[in-house]
Amino acid sequence: MSHILIVEDEVKLARLQVDYLQNAGFDTQCLNNGLEVIPWFKANPTDLIVLDLMLPGRDGLAICREIRSFSTVPIIMVTARIEEIDRLLGLELGADDYICKPFSLREMVARVKAVLRRQHVPTTEVFTTSIKLDPHGFRVLAEGQTVELTTVEFQLFQTLFQQPGRIFSRSKLMDLIYQDQRIVSDRTIDSHIKKLRKKLADVVPDQELIHSVYGAGYRYDPQEKLVD
Ligand code: CA
Repeated sequence: MSHILIVEDEVKLARLQVDYLQNAGFDTQCLNNGLEVIPWFKANPTDLIVLDLMLPGRDGLAICREIRSFSTVPIIMVTARIEEIDRLLGLELGADDYICKPFSLREMVARVKAVLRRQHVPTTEVFTTSIKLDPHGFRVLAEGQTVELTTVEFQLFQTLFQQPGRIFSRSKLMDLIYQDQRIVSDRTIDSHIKKLRKKLADVVPDQELIHSVYGAGYRYDPQEKLVD
C-alpha cells in the first residue's frame, strides 16, 4: 500500500483529499502546518507528497526545495492560481506534477496514480524502444513506420522526447522553438501539438505519447491509452 502525505491547511479540503485517497486504497497522513513536513517526512515512509503552496509556518516552495536536496520522492504541487504554475515551472523546483485549485478530487486521485506509475515504470526502457528520431529528415520512426513532421512539429517532439516526464510550459516551448523572438500565441503551440499528436496516433494508436498538463503545458510520457 502506498503512503501519501497530504499537506493542506484548508481543513475541509484536506478531509476530502484524505477520503478520496483512502477510498482509492492509499494510506494517508495529513499535515496542515508547513513546519511539520520535513520532520515528519524524515521519520515516516512516504511514497508521494501532495503539497499545497501557501501554508502557515513554511511555504510549499521552500519545503519542495529542501526535500529535493535529499530525496526524489514524487511531489504534486497544489497552487491556488493557474498563472502561478508557469512561474513554478520556471523555478525548476523538481515537482512531478502541478494541480490548480479548485480541482476535482477524482482528478487528484488520477494524478497521484499517474505519478506513482511513472515512478515505478522506467518508461524509457519499456515504451520508447521502438521510437527513434531522425533529425536530418525531420522524421520519427515508430513501430517500423515513418512519421513525416514539419520543422516545428519535429522540434516540439524532440524537446519533449529528450526529457521524458518533464513538463514544458507553452512559453518555454515557444522560447525554445521560436528563437527569433517572433510573437506567437499559446494557441500556436497548441495547434502544432494537436497536429503532432494526430500524426503519432496514426502509427502508435495504443499509446498516449504527449500529455497536456492542465494549466501547465505538455510532457512526453508514453502510457497505454486509458479507456474511460
Ligand atoms: Ca493553503
